[in-house]
Amino acid sequence: MSESIPVGSFQGMKSLNKSAILNVVRQYGPISRAKIAKLTKLTPPTVTNLVGELIESHLVVESTLGESTGGRKPILLRINSSAFCVIGVYAGAKRVKAVTAHLDGKVVQQVEMKYSDNQTSEQFLLTLESAVEKVMQSTLPIQESFLGIGVGMHGLVDPEQGLSLFAPHLNLRHIPIKAALEKRFKLPVEVENDVRAQALGESWFGKGAGISNFICVHVGTGVGAGIIIDNKLYRGTSFTAGEIGHTTIDSNGPRCSCGNYGCLETMVGGAALARRAQQAIRYGKESMIEEWVAGDIEKIDGEMLCRAAKLGDPVAIEVLADTGRYLGIGLANLINTLNPALIILSGGVSRAEHFILKPLLKTLEKRTLTKPADAVTIAISELGENAIAIGGFTLVLNKLFTPAGLGDAVEII
Ligand SMILES: [Zn+2]
Repeated sequence: MSESIPVGSFQGMKSLNKSAILNVVRQYGPISRAKIAKLTKLTPPTVTNLVGELIESHLVVESTLGESTGGRKPILLRINSSAFCVIGVYAGAKRVKAVTAHLDGKVVQQVEMKYSDNQTSEQFLLTLESAVEKVMQSTLPIQESFLGIGVGMHGLVDPEQGLSLFAPHLNLRHIPIKAALEKRFKLPVEVENDVRAQALGESWFGKGAGISNFICVHVGTGVGAGIIIDNKLYRGTSFTAGEIGHTTIDSNGPRCSCGNYGCLETMVGGAALARRAQQAIRYGKESMIEEWVAGDIEKIDGEMLCRAAKLGDPVAIEVLADTGRYLGIGLANLINTLNPALIILSGGVSRAEHFILKPLLKTLEKRTLTKPADAVTIAISELGENAIAIGGFTLVLNKLFTPAGLGDAVEII
């Protein structure tokens, strides 16, 4: 498979000017060479030369879709989206999801695989590799040129070395994801924390498009955030920025896996919701969920609570309302600290709709300073089930189009 992969076309993008042009074509295409020169502040001959190289590498194509102003039809340039595919991988707590997509973010194929129990690092890497292999194979009849692989990995990640530092749900440390995948597939590989990857995906293809300062908050089994500041992913000094799941909401709260008490994750994570529902039922409150699990209340999960709330179950509604209030406290802290324009919610929490959102917004109203509260919008992600895998391949696109980060072309020259 590797013979058909033009690795060179990715490596060839090292020129900042070429990436700058590519990014302008992506953002403003179809666009003329003259307009590119104006936007990038490059000289027209330089633009012509570099555009020539981009056309040769099939990343850009000419089209005559532009409106004629009476004379010759202008020749416009656009990204040749379907000429290549990128691969995005989500390595979650229980499963791996791999997708292929064209350069415009349209998903072509997808594959999902479950881990076996008690995986070693080697077994985990084999699962990852076979998910990538499978999705590439199923894509081959449509597209055989791949530009790179991007992995959104849960837990702590060193994106510079492409290492998973700690994967809490697998209880594994120091997994050399980048090295293993590059060796196996001979393609450039990017690795990032799952929610940070999603934040990047949101900025390219989701609700964050065109917004310079926003935060993507994932609330599911775990709780985390990806922070975009001034169009760039903010990673922090040791790549742990966004670990809001471990900020304290109630110092007398339950003990967290990190050793602390009352972390946000212990109040709004999937296990917390189940725990509060179980408590209510043990105290004698009636709930339809008890029947659903045939009395085995240990089986209760967040998804059941969302379903029951929609059917009017009072225990489920109360548990979700509390979740909205606690999450509201967490988000108010974020808003007061970072003053974002937008917070995008994703994960299981998005299934709960207004049951969580209403009390959350009320809490924000009470706990956020007026100015940042007026400036922020709370939205639910629309990237769906593939959100993190989309984030994964966006890591590759981000490297290809804007080596200096997300910023627009004019800034990176
Ligand atoms: Zn914690």
